Amino acid sequence: MVEIMEALAGAGALIRDSHIVYTSGRHGTAYVNKDALYLHPLITEQLCGVMAGEYDADQVDVVAGPTVGGVILAQWVAWHLTRARTDGGEVLAVYAEEEIADGVKRRVFRRGYDEQVRGKRVVVVEDIVTTGGSARQVLDAVRALGATPLGLSIICNRSGKPGEALFDVPLHALATVALDSWAEDECPLCAQGVPVNTSVGKGKAFLARKQA
Ligand SMILES: [Zn+2]
Repeated sequence: MVEIMEALAGAGALIRDSHIVYTSGRHGTAYVNKDALYLHPLITEQLCGVMAGEYDADQVDVVAGPTVGGVILAQWVAWHLTRARTDGGEVLAVYAEEEIADGVKRRVFRRGYDEQVRGKRVVVVEDIVTTGGSARQVLDAVRALGATPLGLSIICNRSGKPGEALFDVPLHALATVALDSWAEDECPLCAQGVPVNTSVGKGKAFLARKQA
C-alpha cells in the first residue's frame, strides 16, 4: 500500500508551506502539481494500482479519463484492472476530448472509442478535482452513450467538498488536500511580504500584474 501523500511529495507533486497564487486568483500555502507526478511512471503506476483496487475488476469493461492527465491514469488503471481480472478478460482504456459547441464546453469520445464505451460499465478517472468540471463532462459523455459509470477515482480532491456534493457517482479520492485560501487583499502572506512562488500556479502572472 502506497503512502499517498508521501508518494506525491516524493514526486515533487505536493508543495507545502509556500505562497501560491491559484488559477482562481486566490492565494494559499499548498499546491498539488500533477505535471510533476506524471514525470515518474513508477509512482504513477503505484497510485493507479490503489485506484484500481477500489473496484471488482471483473465488473469493469472500460476506464475513461479526460485529456490530458486522464489519458495516463486510464491507461495504468486499466492495466491494473486487466491484471486483476479472474476471467482472462481485458479492461480497455479510453479518453474523452474537449469540444466546444455553441459556446458550451463538453467532452466526447472520438477515434472510435465511442463504440468501445457504448453500453459498457465504465470507471472514470481524473487527477485533481477542484470544481469537478472535467470529470462531470466525462460522466456525461459516458451516459450519453448509454454506458454506466461505476464510479469516479481521482488522485486528489482539493475542492474542499465531499464527493456527494460534487458527483452523482461514488467518488474515491487517494488524497484530500484542504487548501486554505484567501482573497488577494486578505492574504496574510502578502501582508508579511512572503515572496510568491512563481514556478507553479499563477504566481508569475500575479507578479507581472503587480509590477505593471
Ligand atoms: Zn498572497
